[in-house]
Amino acid sequence: MLELFWLLLPLAAFSGYLIGRRGSERSSGAKFSQLSQTYFSGLNYLLNEQPDKALEVFLKIAEMDSDTFETQLALGNLFRRRGETDRAIRLHQDLYSRPKLSAEQRSIALQELGEDYMRAGLLDRAEALYTDLLSIGSQAPVALKHLIAIYQQERDWTRAIEMATKLDQLKGGGNALIAQFHCELAESARTQGATDDARRSAMQALRIDPKCVRARILLGRIERKSERMDLAIEHFEAAAETDPDFLPEVLPELLDAFEAQSACHQASEFLDRMLVRDRGVSAMLARSAMIERMQSRNEAITFLADRLHQRPSVRGVLKIIDLSFAGEQGNRAEAVGLVRELLHRLLDRKPGYRCNRCGFSPRALHWQCPSCKSWGSIKPVPGMAGE
Ligand SMILES: [Zn+2]
Repeated sequence: MLELFWLLLPLAAFSGYLIGRRGSERSSGAKFSQLSQTYFSGLNYLLNEQPDKALEVFLKIAEMDSDTFETQLALGNLFRRRGETDRAIRLHQDLYSRPKLSAEQRSIALQELGEDYMRAGLLDRAEALYTDLLSIGSQAPVALKHLIAIYQQERDWTRAIEMATKLDQLKGGGNALIAQFHCELAESARTQGATDDARRSAMQALRIDPKCVRARILLGRIERKSERMDLAIEHFEAAAETDPDFLPEVLPELLDAFEAQSACHQASEFLDRMLVRDRGVSAMLARSAMIERMQSRNEAITFLADRLHQRPSVRGVLKIIDLSFAGEQGNRAEAVGLVRELLHRLLDRKPGYRCNRCGFSPRALHWQCPSCKSWGSIKPVPGMAGE
C-alpha cells in the first residue's frame, strides 16, 4: 500500500495541478468536472485501501491528459513498475517520436525507453540506445552507468572496463570497480591456463586499486601455482594486511607457502602481527598449532587459554578440548565427544560470509553479491563462532 502511495504521489499531485489549470479555462469546464470527479474517486479508493481500483482510476486520469509530456512520463513509469514493459515501450517510443519535444525532453524519453529495454531484458536494444545517448554530454554519466550494467550482465569485461574508465574520468571514484573487472579478466585467463595473461590483468587491477584484496589473492594463487613461493607469500600476506577479515580465506594457502619455503620464523612473525588485528580466530588457531609443533602441547594449551580469556570463541574452545583430552578413554571420552558434537553443530549454523550492503549470507565467497549486485561487499564473517 505504501509503495502505491509513493508511486501515485507525483501523478496525484500532477492531476491536482491539472485540475487547477483546467479550472482556469472556462471552455473546458465539462472536462474539468469529469477529471476532478475521476481524481476524487481515485483518492477515495486509495483511502479505502483498494489499491488496484485506485490504480485504474489514476491510469484513466493520465490517459485523459495525453498531450502533456510529464503525465505520459508518469504513466510509462507506472507501466514499467507494474511489469507491463510492452506498454511502457510503446508509450515511450510514441513519446520520443513527437515532433514538438525539446532536446531535454527527447533525451529523457530516450532514457526511459532504455529503462524499459533493460527491464524487458532486451539488452542489445538498450545497448544501442545508451550508446546513442553517450553523445549527449549531459546524459553521458547515466548512459555510462547503464552500459556498465549491460556489459557486466553480458560478462564483457573489456567493454565494462572501457565504460567504467570513461565514467571515472567524468565523476571519479571508480577505481575499485574497474579493478574488479580486471580481476574478472584475470580469473577467466587463469581458468583457461593462460597464466601470463592472468598475472598481467591482476597486476593491472592492483595498479588501479592498490587496496584490491581480490587481486592480491589471485596473484598469490598464480605465483603459488608457478612455484614462486616468495612472491605468493608476499601477496597473501598483503591481502590479509589490507583487510584482516580475509585472513581465513588466504591462511591455508599462505601456511603451505611458508612450509614450502621452510619459513617458520617468517610465519610466526606474520601470525603474531595478525593476532592483534584478526577479529576472528584464524591467527590464534594457526599460532597454537605452530606452538604445539615447535614447542609442546602444554605450551599450546597455555597460549590458547590466555587468548580465550581475552576473546572467547567456539573454535578456540574446540581446539583446547582436543589438546586437553586427546587419548581419553571410557565415560570421560564419551562426555567430551558429546560436547564436541554440540559445539560443531553451533558452528554449522553460522553463515560463512555476509554482504555488508544487503545482509545476504552465502556459503561461498562471491566478489559480486548475487543479491544486491554490489562489488567487493561480501566478506568472511568474523567473530565468536563465525569462521
Ligand atoms: Zn548484497
